[in-house]
Amino acid sequence: MGRPTPYVGRFAPTPSGPLHLGSLLAATASWLDARSQGGRWRLRIDDLDAPRLDPRAEAAILRSLEAHGLEWDGAVAHQRNHLERYQAALAALAEDCFGCACTRRQLRPPSRYPGTCRQLGLPLAGNAVRLRVGEDVAVGFADRVQGHWRERLAAAAGDIAIWRRDDLPAYPLAVVVDDAAMGVTDVVRGADLLDNTPRQIHLAQRLGVAPPAYAHVPVVVDAAGRKLSKHNAATAIDDRRAAQNLAAVLDLLGLDAPQADVAELLARALAGWRPEALPQSPTLPGFVALS
Ligand code: GLU
Repeated sequence: MGRPTPYVGRFAPTPSGPLHLGSLLAATASWLDARSQGGRWRLRIDDLDAPRLDPRAEAAILRSLEAHGLEWDGAVAHQRNHLERYQAALAALAEDCFGCACTRRQLRPPSRYPGTCRQLGLPLAGNAVRLRVGEDVAVGFADRVQGHWRERLAAAAGDIAIWRRDDLPAYPLAVVVDDAAMGVTDVVRGADLLDNTPRQIHLAQRLGVAPPAYAHVPVVVDAAGRKLSKHNAATAIDDRRAAQNLAAVLDLLGLDAPQADVAELLARALAGWRPEALPQSPTLPGFVALS
């Protein structure tokens, strides 16, 4: 039996800075997975969180992807153009939602919402909005890298924040709505997003859309065990050294990385790509100095 629908993958960076080694690894893994299955690979710019955005980042990300041979299909999508989609999703879920006036501070640590505003009857407008999650809701999925996951959502996460007080959709809602609208069948991304995945699967179910299949690749950590991100000054990759950057990333992914140009590196990597063989660990120690 073939796949029921043709493979559609995507890379969805937040344009808060240029690509660094860690984000190049996630993009490369997602591209390899799509292309090795003859699939399409879309690019979406997750540009809703205005204060975090760097106006130069999008162009830099596009240039880097091109320099590293990671070509995408179709037009670049932008979340800021999809506000009506998210509003429609909010309206569809509104009956099961409540307004939440908790501040970030009150919610520390942020992993599980304790239900503070659940019974207060606050309006949705002007507040953050949360979707009620029943006590008995369990979400299970088979991640192609990390294996089987099962989580009691109420105990692990609680009611899901789907809309922000500043009147923008919260990250999990926007991602689920866009992935569904773009026909994404497979999400390959960093394992730092793994703990959000049960919420996203549950949201997809509540919206009546099929959740994609997931593969969470380990994230690259620096010598001190911290995820590479612009907050710890992970350096932007230098596009003039694209072949070296790509070789470093392929090496981290356990693939052959001979001295070769970008096209040949990708061709060989496509032949060897087996996400199932990646380490079943959320992090990938092995900081590679690129200069
Ligand atoms: N835009 C998100 C980020 O850069 C990723 C979205 C996703 O892969 O689901 O962290």
